[in-house]
Amino acid sequence: MELTIHTQGQFDFVDITTEINGALKETNIQNGAVLICSRHTTASIVVNESEQGIKEDTINFWSRLIPPKGDYQHNQIRQDDNAHAHMLAMFLGPSVTLPIKRGVLDLGVWQRVFLVELDKSRERQVLVQVL
Ligand code: ZN
Repeated sequence: MELTIHTQGQFDFVDITTEINGALKETNIQNGAVLICSRHTTASIVVNESEQGIKEDTINFWSRLIPPKGDYQHNQIRQDDNAHAHMLAMFLGPSVTLPIKRGVLDLGVWQRVFLVELDKSRERQVLVQVL
């Protein structure tokens, strides 16, 4: 299965937990695991709490770790000005694998699944593959 997600700018955290559970419902799989994978080089999948403070703390940390503006070769050659988004996507990785229990994601109380936009507003595809 594939989800189509419209992101709203850089560092948009799109909560896709409900959509994934909806996709799982269609499979009738009760127990197992599911691979959730971004099909992009500048968007990642993360699992964490849906709380504005930690999102902003994380964005500040990422911006210190890989500054958006820098002397990046990719920006000079490709001129799409998003080298930092590519590097952060490699740092975070493209996918997560999560357990399924009784037909839904078996997450902790505060855990949510997010597609994180690392570049600008786009239409994004997320693969949802039951294992
Ligand atoms: Zn690029």
